[in-house]
Amino acid sequence: MSATAPKLASFRRIVVKIGSSLLVDAEAGRLREGWLGALAEDLADLHRDSRDVLVVSSGAIALGRSLLKLPRGVLKLEDSQAAAAVGQIGLARTWAEALSRHGITTGQVLVTLGDTEERRRYLNARSTIAKLLEWRAIPVINENDTVATNEIRYGDNDRLAARVATMTSADLLVLLSDVDGLYDAPPGSGTSARQVPVVPRITPEIEAMAGSSGSELSRGGMRTKIEAGKIATHSGVHMVITSGRIEHPLSRIAEGARCTWFLTQANPVTARKAWIAGSLEPKGTLTIDAGAVSALRRGTSLLPAGVIRVDGSFARGDAVIIRGPDAVEIGRGLVAYDAEDAEKIRGKPSGEILPILGIAGRAEMVHRDDLVIRRA
Ligand code: GLU
Repeated sequence: MSATAPKLASFRRIVVKIGSSLLVDAEAGRLREGWLGALAEDLADLHRDSRDVLVVSSGAIALGRSLLKLPRGVLKLEDSQAAAAVGQIGLARTWAEALSRHGITTGQVLVTLGDTEERRRYLNARSTIAKLLEWRAIPVINENDTVATNEIRYGDNDRLAARVATMTSADLLVLLSDVDGLYDAPPGSGTSARQVPVVPRITPEIEAMAGSSGSELSRGGMRTKIEAGKIATHSGVHMVITSGRIEHPLSRIAEGARCTWFLTQANPVTARKAWIAGSLEPKGTLTIDAGAVSALRRGTSLLPAGVIRVDGSFARGDAVIIRGPDAVEIGRGLVAYDAEDAEKIRGKPSGEILPILGIAGRAEMVHRDDLVIRRA
């Protein structure tokens, strides 16, 4: 890909991350509702244009602490957690109101690091978000600060947003913060600092620029943005950093506002499938009938009806090998049922899942998005 900046309109699924300092007016102790309302208009435009839109919104702690009038300075973990419990309510309500003015439904999703890294919970978080998008709702996501512990919490929502983007196979991550991009020298350090419009690849040289950009100690500084960029671009997600210090920052990108694009060479679906096929250790095997083999080769999901045998002890979300009746490997995928339940519903029509298991599980044993088929 040449080093030119892509157009916002060329993306189909966009994650927009908004930093606390943009959302919360700490002095006044409230959210900057006017700014947020203008941003909601930008989001609604993309949504109306058939884009899938996801918001990763910080600000729970900042809002909570100002509502509670907590003293300035670093908060203890339990204080931050309790402040987040207070702030998150107002944050979610404001998003829901701002988006509902455009006829858009909002779904609040609170996740922890484990939800994006541990496969079983990853699969759950991913399907919940997928369902919200299918319903044309806008998921508003934040870290579940009230239960996150020191060790597992994200130091910042930049990384969380990058994980959400890769988890949902988004093709663009927008980071809105108080900087308008990456500079090749610390801003204000002299006359030579130039803004970098496009980063085709994150090289050690680029990382060095981030390190020199001053705020590496502050959460959400350029260093964590480059970390987010690495997660995103390795998984087929483009990333753009731009300033949210203006109204309508998203439509401004389309109008040529100053920003830094981090390009990916990969495609999100291919990258995810490479992860399924290559990096996960299979925990079991599903043997399927000839009809299911040809259906899978045509690109469908694997239904319980096509499964003739279940081997291994796997949990929901684990990787499994899928073999044809002749034991030849057809592909690999993430299975939607534990081995025990898979055994009970194998060979059965999906309509019987509820009476057999007592829960309305997924119709597919392995969804086609979670399936990688080998070439015949
Ligand atoms: N989850 C935190 C909050 O909502 C923000 C984390 C961050 O600023 O990156 O307050």
